[in-house]
Amino acid sequence: MANSTKASKADDAKEPIAKTLGSSPYSDAVYHELSRLNGQVNRMNKQTLIQKMRSLRLSTEGSTDVLKKRLKNYYKKRKLATINVTSSHKLYPYYVIVDFEATCEEVNPPDYPHEIIEFPAVLVNSEKQEIEDCFQSYCRPTIKSTLSKFCTELTGITQEQVDKAETFPEVLSRFEAWLVKHGLGTKYKYAIVTDGPWDMGRFLYGQCQLSGIPYPSFGKKWINIRKTFSNFYKSKRYCLKMMIDHLEIGFEGRPHCGIDDARNIARVLIHLIADGANVHINERIHLTAGHNKMKVVTEDGNQSERRVLSVKETEAAKDTMKWQVTAKFLEKTKDLNSVECEDTTGEEIADLSTDFSTCHISQSSDDCSS
Ligand code: AMP
Ligand code: MG
Repeated sequence: MANSTKASKADDAKEPIAKTLGSSPYSDAVYHELSRLNGQVNRMNKQTLIQKMRSLRLSTEGSTDVLKKRLKNYYKKRKLATINVTSSHKLYPYYVIVDFEATCEEVNPPDYPHEIIEFPAVLVNSEKQEIEDCFQSYCRPTIKSTLSKFCTELTGITQEQVDKAETFPEVLSRFEAWLVKHGLGTKYKYAIVTDGPWDMGRFLYGQCQLSGIPYPSFGKKWINIRKTFSNFYKSKRYCLKMMIDHLEIGFEGRPHCGIDDARNIARVLIHLIADGANVHINERIHLTAGHNKMKVVTEDGNQSERRVLSVKETEAAKDTMKWQVTAKFLEKTKDLNSVECEDTTGEEIADLSTDFSTCHISQSSDDCSS
């Protein structure tokens, strides 16, 4: 109690700030004040935090870590404004959240040829902190055209929905047209956001191999929101459901429905933006020429090996090449774990395997961090 009384006195934004102490940019008394306030916040329990935040009209949703971060950020903004410093908030004007659903079995071997069956995307305007538009389409798988019972139960996607759908390359073209329609990559800068490295590093990459199409440039780098979240709130690396739980905002819709997953990732992103996180690229994929090969067997039994082009090559070739889908049955894919994906510190992302036994993302799961 004594602590909170002290805190409310010290936290009063109208309290005059001590004079500048020296000439270094961080020697201003405001920074000393801020570090003292941060110390106070660190010592607050959840109840004290909630009381304090209510009095400041701040949102009280979230775990203790989330509340602490939100309150510290509030002080930072207010105190720095008194010395005309705006805290740098690195954001893209737009974010596009992508969350593919793919064919699967209950146990997926490392070379399982996942085919994308749902392509959803959600456009977030970072200044307005709101969802501006959505793109959603099912895709018809061509290698294994019948969905497993497990896959339908997991994703809610039916055989009829995929049977009526266009194939992946056609859907991809419509998605790229949707990006263009919104001026993304032309008028406005944007970044792709995913929940984990698999959407680009495994599903998009693998699907492009299977479809025999160039790897799209939008998938070269992205924001793995799990990393942004754990770095910002100083939490463990959580899956989507756990991030939602941590923010205490409740999952909306059906888990593993691509568009619902993407909308919920957007909600997490909007909370990160509102709480002052810098949301920038933290992972990318490297495809080197000659490195990626796949073996395909066509219906007439002919075998061939297809080289997957590097990102540079595909960009150069994109407009001129005509791609044909010839693979009807995939005999063996390259071990996808060896696709090089790295985070922006250069650290390799070792595990792109889709063995979900350690990361069961379901509503009832308690710990699905991977
Ligand atoms: P998610 O975005 O978590 O819905 O997962 C994307 C895709 O990963 C799904 O469409 C499945 O192909 C695969 N997947 C996710 N969870 C599992 C699981 N528990 N078992 C098998 N495959 C899964
Ligand atoms: Mg999903």
